[in-house]
Amino acid sequence: MRLRTACPATPRAWTVELRPHAGGLVLVCQHCPHGTTPVTAVSARSAALAHLARHARGDLRPPHLRICQCHERGCRWHSRHRGCVGPIRLLLACERGGRLWRLVDACSACAAATAQAAVVPDTALAHAPPQPATTRRHRHPKGPGEKIRVCEMLSYLAAALPAGTSAAARLLALQCALRMNTRMQVRLPRGVLRSLRLNAAPDPWRELEQARWLRRAPGNAANEIAAELLDVTLLGQAPARPDRRHAADWALRAGSSYAAGAVGALPRLASVYLAAHTDPESSSGLGELDQIARACGTQPAELPATLDRLAATGLLGSWRACPDLGDLQWTLARGTRWGPCP
Ligand SMILES: [Zn+2]
Ligand SMILES: [Zn+2]
Ligand SMILES: [Zn+2]
Repeated sequence: MRLRTACPATPRAWTVELRPHAGGLVLVCQHCPHGTTPVTAVSARSAALAHLARHARGDLRPPHLRICQCHERGCRWHSRHRGCVGPIRLLLACERGGRLWRLVDACSACAAATAQAAVVPDTALAHAPPQPATTRRHRHPKGPGEKIRVCEMLSYLAAALPAGTSAAARLLALQCALRMNTRMQVRLPRGVLRSLRLNAAPDPWRELEQARWLRRAPGNAANEIAAELLDVTLLGQAPARPDRRHAADWALRAGSSYAAGAVGALPRLASVYLAAHTDPESSSGLGELDQIARACGTQPAELPATLDRLAATGLLGSWRACPDLGDLQWTLARGTRWGPCP
């Protein structure tokens, strides 16, 4: 494979396709004209993402030189919106049921309008979106940053992990991605796994290994499990690690409160998702059923039962789904507050 990194005019937009080929699949990159790479069905997704990530990392540019490549192409990847706005981020999008993957610089408006897509968490995550100066002195100053980090990582994992990945594996992947070091290594203390209620189940690890998303280190210590993450797209995110670790701790608390501990992995992941997407002032939130289901590794039709369980345990105050619009509205139970570490 040859990466075209020498020409500065190359736009930051890359597309790869997974095409059926005798006995398997081949990875075809529109930017690497020389040759295709055979891949197996199980490794296809990770191979596609790894290939795209290598292009992006071979063409790093300061933010002021990055433009919305979606706009440059006439915004034909999404339905209409009011125009490009917001910071430029790296957007990972998937089409044709996982056969086509695209990594592209896009503005916030285009990113939000693109289906089956997720912003790749990166350094811009270190800051909350612009807010009026009056809200800067919020009593939980770290809260918004942590929540945004968790929101974006859940959204990214929804795109990067195979659709059938279980809620337990997603809870684990979220912790690993937020706690990894700059060499993509992570050491998860058994205490964290106990909080996740995953310490007795080896399956989430195996599931992520089969998806080629991580690899456990041989000979783990008694008090922790070490692993190496294989999702190189994540290297695009390089905020200070303590920031990410705070977000990991926040997600851990949101998914492992006493009440959430009594239910299964899916309600716990859903409670993390809902808490991360709840407006702290009103304790309520609004989201799309499709997106919530995808981030939780389930189907929209299964969400009502999950939400009922969360309501029964007292974590969720109320919820209302509008199937016609595909929306979900919810309110957290009074007193439910997943703030930063004291
Ligand atoms: Zn390529
Ligand atoms: Zn666009
Ligand atoms: Zn745009």
